[in-house]
Amino acid sequence: MLRPEKTLTEFIIDEQRRSPQGTDGFTALLNDIRLACKRISYLIGKGALTGNVGLANSLNVQGEPQMKLDLMANEIFLRTNEWGGYLAGMVSEELEAPHQIPEQYPRGRYLLAFDPLDGSSNIDVNVSVGSIFSVLRCPEGVTAPTAADFLQPGTQQVCAGYAIYGPSTMLVLTLGRGVHGFTLDREIGEFIYTHPELRIPNDTREFAINASNARFWEPAVKRYVDECLAGESGPRGKDFNMRWIASLVAETHRILLRGGIFMYPRDTKEPTKAGRLRLLYEANPIAFLIEQAGGRASTGYGPLLAVTPHALHQRIGLIFGARHEVEVLENYHQKYNDREYEAPLFGARGLFRA
Ligand code: MN
Ligand code: MN
Repeated sequence: MLRPEKTLTEFIIDEQRRSPQGTDGFTALLNDIRLACKRISYLIGKGALTGNVGLANSLNVQGEPQMKLDLMANEIFLRTNEWGGYLAGMVSEELEAPHQIPEQYPRGRYLLAFDPLDGSSNIDVNVSVGSIFSVLRCPEGVTAPTAADFLQPGTQQVCAGYAIYGPSTMLVLTLGRGVHGFTLDREIGEFIYTHPELRIPNDTREFAINASNARFWEPAVKRYVDECLAGESGPRGKDFNMRWIASLVAETHRILLRGGIFMYPRDTKEPTKAGRLRLLYEANPIAFLIEQAGGRASTGYGPLLAVTPHALHQRIGLIFGARHEVEVLENYHQKYNDREYEAPLFGARGLFRA
């Protein structure tokens, strides 16, 4: 008899049955997150047909212009996840303070942090964007969580993932036992288990960084990238390729599927900001996925998941991907970051010499 393909729901229930600590309500919570992602996928797939492209004429809490779709995706995430009774509170890129569960709904045991639409500046040019989410446990006895209750290091995440809205829509997920990918079958409306056990090779010849920030990089990053660019005749002894999509979800997805290293390091461009990406709903969930796939995620100075957050919208330097390459760069942070990088080992081939 025909055995239908395994769905996301079936995968989650299987995982639950194997879970030692039993996590009530978790299956249903993931169902709601999945539904939010399907709703956003549908909305984004309509493109300009719905008149929802373009700016919303507002700024988010971090002073960045919001797109109409940023706000709509945020509403979808809040409304789809607040009623089920699984969450005690939510934090979003688009909201200054935690979202409290409305009075009429029961409170649950989990906290959800999310970036409803990542890479939204790419929307109008039809490049892949995504949604990123991170699930934490609500501290015991807390029913109306404040910002402080969300400030848990990434190691405390019970689940993290993203949806990518590309040529196909996929949901990529970890529950702390490997990383698994599901592809949306639009005809039956279900995510199908298409990518079991994603693994990132330890080595790579592909790096991703926004090179327009080169003059602001710290010495370790300048040296590392310079050496990549020097290729086979440089100290690394191999040629590298470069990628930059400017969409964190799309960069992560590429690295999970075929390897590589991604860098958005701390730099000196805006000294008040210790990096570009947000710790709670961008860096932490991505780092959890990467480490679960055998890669490494780092601030440059140490494991990203070990960082204890001090603010909801805190920014951080993030480097992740192929384990051995991330280790090279961490080593450079230790050895070279206290002095200016100025003497390329390979003379005139250092394109990014500041
Ligand atoms: Mn984002
Ligand atoms: Mn966003």
